[in-house]
Amino acid sequence: MNRLDINSAKVLMKNNYEEIDTSIVQELHGFLEVIDNDRKVIYRKGNNPNNTEIYTPYEYYELINEAQFQHDAIGVSLKIDRSDISVNNNGKNGKYVYTVDYNREKEFLLVVAVPEKQLIEYVVRERKIKPRDYLIIMLVVDVSILILTFLVLSRATSRNFIKPLKLLTNGARQISKGNYNTRIELKSSNEFGELRDAFNHMSEKIEIERLLKEKAQENRKNLILDISHDLKNPLSSILGYSDYILKNQELSKEELLKYLEIIANNSERANELIGDLFEFSKLESTEFKLTFKSSDICEFLRELIASYIPQFEIKQIDYEFDIPEEVIKLIFDGKNLDRAIGNIITNAIKYNPEGTKLYVGAHLEEKDFVIKIKDNGVGIPREMQKEIFNAFVRVDASRNSRKGGTGLGLAISKKIIEMHGGSVSLNSDLDEGSMFIIKLPIQ
Ligand code: ADP
Repeated sequence: MNRLDINSAKVLMKNNYEEIDTSIVQELHGFLEVIDNDRKVIYRKGNNPNNTEIYTPYEYYELINEAQFQHDAIGVSLKIDRSDISVNNNGKNGKYVYTVDYNREKEFLLVVAVPEKQLIEYVVRERKIKPRDYLIIMLVVDVSILILTFLVLSRATSRNFIKPLKLLTNGARQISKGNYNTRIELKSSNEFGELRDAFNHMSEKIEIERLLKEKAQENRKNLILDISHDLKNPLSSILGYSDYILKNQELSKEELLKYLEIIANNSERANELIGDLFEFSKLESTEFKLTFKSSDICEFLRELIASYIPQFEIKQIDYEFDIPEEVIKLIFDGKNLDRAIGNIITNAIKYNPEGTKLYVGAHLEEKDFVIKIKDNGVGIPREMQKEIFNAFVRVDASRNSRKGGTGLGLAISKKIIEMHGGSVSLNSDLDEGSMFIIKLPIQ
């Protein structure tokens, strides 16, 4: 049987309807009926869900119409894509496709009905596509997928790769031009996001380094200015007075002594400055290393304070110490730490009036050994408390002041303490004295 004709009542038609091959119709869950001229179903194969025994005149008329149409049609009678084919809703199998035909003598009408769904599946299953058409279809499908993929990828590439790359390249260009405040703004959580963070972190670091470098250069410039200024005064004085003495041979002994004293004081001051400067530069040098040793810090402090007692006595400093009795081992450079703490004690003696009370205490505090040096002297203005540790900073800025130091003492102390991994801070109020707190890490 022609596969296109499985539904075709015309092709299946046999005058002896009982001989009709109904296998495919039944296989597709359809049915075949023979209806006599009185609209009665006289033969049925397969299952008609309506189980019609006698068709109504209207139904019968419809079926005859269909039969008439098929006789007029050219070619094979089954055309499932024909819009005027009879399609009815027929129970649980859904729509049925009907084809009908009269037998030659018009004694009965043969009705072949197959569920539309089954029929379509069958036709699709049976329909064979020519290899050439198949190739063309595959080619068209492949090319379409390729174009689509290319479009999608190029959009995604542009969004995910080209844009971030452009931003990063532009950022790098800006950095190379010296615009270190450049930051990349890119919304991305993938590797480009990580690259953005790394880039921004890098530019931030470069910017900070540049600022620090500028600050260091500025500091160095100021340092040279300060040094030349501080050295200029005593040296000019030395030069001036020695020149005066040399040119005036008839000076009285008192006058000569007076001028020589001025020369000696100024030489001492210049020498002190050069000494401090040497110390400070030595600490700044990368080659300078402390000599660490494990020793009892309490014993070290007791010895250090004891060495200042004669000076306390002279200045009538009312001193009090509170150093733990036990042995507390710390790793430190004794010579340099002596210098650092000594500077602070010397300052307390130097800048405060007679009768000032001085307290030096020490104790363990979590991970630090804390040393407190407190006086009730003149104090340091609050606004200077941070910068007082910078080189050449003095409360009394007049460089001619006789009691003024070089302004390097606390800078040296801070440097040494920090080289021990510690810190030094100042707590001071004018008229309430000053308290220096040194913290040295135990480990
Ligand atoms: P200097 O060599 O001038 O002593 P420092 O850095 O040691 O330099 O001290 C800086 C300035 O801090 C001093 O010039 C002084 O004005 C002030 N100073 C330091 N310690 C004290 C203190 N205990 N009491 C009052 N002023 C102080």
